[in-house]
Amino acid sequence: MASEAIQATEPTVFRNGVDRRTFLKVVAQAAAAIGLSGTMAAKMIAAVEKGARPSVIWLHFQECTGCTESLLRTSHPGLAEVLFDLISLDYHETLMAASGHQAEEALEAAIKKNAGKYILVVEGAVPTKENGIYMQIANKTGVDMLKHVAKSAGAIVAIGSCASWGGIPSADPNPTGASGINQILPDKVIVTLPGCPANPYILLGTLLQYVALGKLPELDELGRPKFAYGRVIHEHCPRRAHFDAGRFAEEFGGLGHPCFGCTEQAVAFRVPMLKPAEIVRPTPPSTYAPVTPPQGFVSPIATGVGGLIGGAIIGAGWMAAKKIAQKQETVPATTEKKGDNSGTSSKE
Ligand code: SF4
Repeated sequence: MASEAIQATEPTVFRNGVDRRTFLKVVAQAAAAIGLSGTMAAKMIAAVEKGARPSVIWLHFQECTGCTESLLRTSHPGLAEVLFDLISLDYHETLMAASGHQAEEALEAAIKKNAGKYILVVEGAVPTKENGIYMQIANKTGVDMLKHVAKSAGAIVAIGSCASWGGIPSADPNPTGASGINQILPDKVIVTLPGCPANPYILLGTLLQYVALGKLPELDELGRPKFAYGRVIHEHCPRRAHFDAGRFAEEFGGLGHPCFGCTEQAVAFRVPMLKPAEIVRPTPPSTYAPVTPPQGFVSPIATGVGGLIGGAIIGAGWMAAKKIAQKQETVPATTEKKGDNSGTSSKE
């Protein structure tokens, strides 16, 4: 058990005010999610406690900053605090206090200090049209800035669909030529974490593995960590039971919105949001109830025989009811008068 292997012995408050127990809990959960053993998570904790934190440089390009926002707003526990204990965030344009020349100096200092070792996290697509003139940072185009920082990075992570393959900024007609960073850095290994926004726990799991093992997680052909993207979101959807039961919304007006496939390169921002998508894997596992339950089959002959039997029963019932009614009609009226206590009999 991961939690047993990294049992807290005494309360320790980490740099960002996170108590040790919370830190252990989040790290153990993330370690389990990516398939690390409790022993490995314990090693990672020990490394963090000794102050070994990888330097991270976080660049922003064309985006809404929603990926950073979703990381910062994660609570119970505060993932951001845990993450910032795990790494040394040396450059992040949204979160750092410095600006202008100070920010430029901070970036260059971070590159120089940890050349070949720092992790570059990229949020946002990069404009490539007209030699990248649609974005300038510190007198550099986005393309040049990305290449400059990527050159000395130890690992590169594209967070969100924008950085992964263009996302919203690359939607048709894509006037700036917004591209994912793999198109600008074709020779680099890039860990691609699509999602709009990306799930911050996947970033934590990726960084955790890099810290603990000194290597990146196993990636699929699109650069996505298999531990997180090996199965489609549909399989984990909280509304999956409705799909399996064949219950579908037939009109607008209810709560929520259909998934629009934000992690899929060829779906989100590529096809109209409400256009029915082609389902790649439509067959649920056999352990689930079928989408269209078997209804059984009644032949026309069986229907006819059933009708005859039913008719006979109804007919017999009707005849019996008729006979009873006739019997009641034959009862003499005098019997009814026997009970007449009025004393006004016609005989009197
Ligand atoms: Fe914003 Fe989505 Fe791009 Fe993240 S992937 S920066 S949430 S638009």
